[in-house]
Amino acid sequence: MNQQLFFDRPVTLDVSQMAISEDWAKYVITHELGHANDFLHAQHLNGFISSMKPFNKPPYVTDYAKTNQFEDLAESYAYYHLMPEKLKEIAPEKYEALAKVEAVKSVDPLNMIASQPPLRKLGRAIGELLSKLPYPVRMFTVALGTSLPLYSFSKAADDLAKGKGDRLKAKSIATSALAAILTPPSVTLATVIEGIALKSAVKRGKISEDTAHKILDSTIALVLGPLGGALKGVLDGLRSGRSSRRFEMPGRTSENLGKPKSPSERGNLRKGIEVDKRDWAKFLGGAVLAVALGVGIGLALGPALGGLLGGLIASQNFTAGAVAEIVGGRLIATGISYGVSRAVSQGVKKFLE
Ligand SMILES: [Zn+2]
Repeated sequence: MNQQLFFDRPVTLDVSQMAISEDWAKYVITHELGHANDFLHAQHLNGFISSMKPFNKPPYVTDYAKTNQFEDLAESYAYYHLMPEKLKEIAPEKYEALAKVEAVKSVDPLNMIASQPPLRKLGRAIGELLSKLPYPVRMFTVALGTSLPLYSFSKAADDLAKGKGDRLKAKSIATSALAAILTPPSVTLATVIEGIALKSAVKRGKISEDTAHKILDSTIALVLGPLGGALKGVLDGLRSGRSSRRFEMPGRTSENLGKPKSPSERGNLRKGIEVDKRDWAKFLGGAVLAVALGVGIGLALGPALGGLLGGLIASQNFTAGAVAEIVGGRLIATGISYGVSRAVSQGVKKFLE
């Protein structure tokens, strides 16, 4: 069996070994699965399981386990699954270590998200479609997969700008595509699920389309990180001053505040307004200051706090720790950027009033 899909170390099964007995075949396969899990763990940046403390040290379950850390792990892994009581008796520390690793795997957020029915269906559909394509086309499609998010993002953004089609769907695709470009796979999958969930919530009348758009805006801010958070902070800060006439559109007077109803009326209104350039300068200066401060402070504090959070969780659980570091750091940086920018833009708004 050559399993080169996930790692560069092939795991080889000898057919003659499989023919000895059913029990022996099971043992060999489980042993190889142990190697696969060990390499996969390392590939997910969690380090080799076999590099953990109890491995590559006596007591060993078999003589073959003494060969090196990898064989020790694979042999212990086979015992763990096929003769757990024996492993507990011979090497209780190795049993405990494997129990911990296996428990982590079952709550791996990526695995949990990927096993959601809508995604499984989507994955199966893509797989079926790919299997029907001739080999060269298939390889080309897979290669294209890395540039596809960029394409679908620009297409969705284009649809949004033209006001074409289902705006909520377009925004949700744009969000996932941005996430695919900028974030780890688990975040991308989360945005896909969010899009599906929001759409069905709107359809069932649980939330308004407006609320769904607001939630997606927040997700885009999170995906874009501190900069997105800062921009959203500025926009929300200004929006909260909707009733404040001058900030809604600097230069507008109280007489022409009513909303233009038709395009021609809008054109006339624009012609009729004399924009106060000093107000726009203050507005732009304030926005730039708010964004710069928000991004600066968010970037300085977010990753540090995320790292601290990740470190704390990693002492219990490698995978969750790594996820907490990446997602937590991003979340904190975005939150700080949002708060600072919003506060600054509201301050500028007060200053202009
Ligand atoms: Zn081996």
